[in-house]
Amino acid sequence: MSYIDELIGAVGKEKVLTDPAELFVYGTDWSPRTPTEFNPPDVVVLPRTTRDVQRTIKIAFEHDIPVTAGGGLTGMLGGAVPIHGGIYIDTTTMNSVVEVDSKNQTIRVQAGATLQEVNDAVHPYDLWLPHQPESKWVSTVGSAIACDNDSTFGVRYGKILNCLLSAEMVTGTGEVLELGHRKAHFTSSGYKLMHLLAGSEGTLGVVTEATLKLEPIPETRRVDMLVFPRLGAAVDYLSRLLKAGLCIEAAHINCKHRLKFYTHSYKQKFGKDPTIPAWAEALLAISFAGDKKVVDFQREQAIELSKEFEAQLVEERELVESWWASKYTLEFEPFKQKWPDSQTKKKFGAADPGIPVGRLEEFYHKFIQTAEKHRLEILGMNAYLEHPNSIGFSLSCAVFVDYRSKEEVKRFREYHDELSKMAIAFEGTMSTFMSDTYQKAPYLELEHGASLRYMKEIKRLFDPKEIMNPGKKFLRRGDSP
Ligand SMILES: Cc1cc2nc3c(=O)[nH]c(=O)nc-3n(C[C@H](O)[C@H](O)[C@H](O)COP(=O)(O)OP(=O)(O)OC[C@H]3O[C@@H](n4cnc5c(N)ncnc54)[C@H](O)[C@@H]3O)c2cc1C
Repeated sequence: MSYIDELIGAVGKEKVLTDPAELFVYGTDWSPRTPTEFNPPDVVVLPRTTRDVQRTIKIAFEHDIPVTAGGGLTGMLGGAVPIHGGIYIDTTTMNSVVEVDSKNQTIRVQAGATLQEVNDAVHPYDLWLPHQPESKWVSTVGSAIACDNDSTFGVRYGKILNCLLSAEMVTGTGEVLELGHRKAHFTSSGYKLMHLLAGSEGTLGVVTEATLKLEPIPETRRVDMLVFPRLGAAVDYLSRLLKAGLCIEAAHINCKHRLKFYTHSYKQKFGKDPTIPAWAEALLAISFAGDKKVVDFQREQAIELSKEFEAQLVEERELVESWWASKYTLEFEPFKQKWPDSQTKKKFGAADPGIPVGRLEEFYHKFIQTAEKHRLEILGMNAYLEHPNSIGFSLSCAVFVDYRSKEEVKRFREYHDELSKMAIAFEGTMSTFMSDTYQKAPYLELEHGASLRYMKEIKRLFDPKEIMNPGKKFLRRGDSP
């Protein structure tokens, strides 16, 4: 009996896909890959329960078959692409809410629920999950944990570990484990194994359920934009706001290339330029949330303090609101058109380094030089404040990539490698929200040195046959990134 027949017997025929046409869509994600770079799996399982995932992995373990779990497939570096074939576990069929505990402000969900589905479920209780990447409509809870991705509201609420209380996983042997601290907010008991899951990319096992901490929905939110003559001035300004004791909800710095995206769209829509001065090198979008009185007070203080930094408030509310809509709802309202190119011609690709805050501006210039050296059209740098109530950026250094050109995709990968290595030389890290996948795997030793051996030992403990998302984080013999 083949392992696929065993799978059908174990989870049911209706939960197993084998038709090549159906497998095709699982062959790529949002990463820059040419149309010929498709790696569809040999079979897809659509689980409903943890038991289905457990049965699947037990069969894979017995037959030595690679297993890749995925969610919305919007990863930007090939994390969920089953590069070694085998079984793909499409977790999006596991999206049920297990429990909303409004008294303790927690939700227990299956890992395939999208972050938006979580928010829809808790909205009636006047609660929300503030961990919200732009891709929240399709990005799942399991992948938010597995990529350790970014949130729009990171400066107030942090990243996923700041709201993850417990996670259930199935290891590479098929064992079901519950990791974390149940509904308590922290623990000093045992080792923090749950933390290993953040950024693990499914290489230790499949996350099947999670308990998440919720927050009360704020009464009001006010978003504003300011422009600065230097990128570093925007960083210093944010530092000043935090020193003053203001509670910022979201803060995002866009370089002048990114700013162009919005000013261009504004001109297209209204037939005139917004009143952005020519000297503007950086745009800062910032929000405050809470009771209206408190929000108004904080906003006034923030505007007052901006005078110390030669900043200018953006007057056009349409520009601010369209920026927020593109960030928060991914709707380019009121600017419907995409710019500068159709997404079918060129998509964007990004490197996601982490840099010490004092060197952000220096790194920005390196990013521009590196993109130009590799002849890539620049989309721009976004710096997202992701550490609660302190200055700690996650970066997206984005360029346009013509996916149809093998040569341009190759240049993008060289650009990505160069920025990753540069980030380490800057005393930073290669990745802040996309994880390593196969792209950064060759440089893991450069970043982690001798501790890489411990990481490999941990991987072996959870996944002794190395069947879980093989080729990600750690190259396998014969792998070429
Ligand atoms: C338009 C757009 C906007 C974006 N905005 C943001 C943003 O604001 N912030 C940000 O950080 N990223 C952003 N991204 C990148 C991407 O959406 C995120 O990284 C997101 O977490 C990926 O979610 P997904 O469900 O699509 O994951 P997938 O691409 O399906 O998987 C990502 C990784 O998670 C692993 N995985 C998935 N589910 C599980 C599971 N249950 N158990 C174990 N491993 C699992 C996969 O194997 C893979 O390694 C954006 C992407 C796009 C295209």
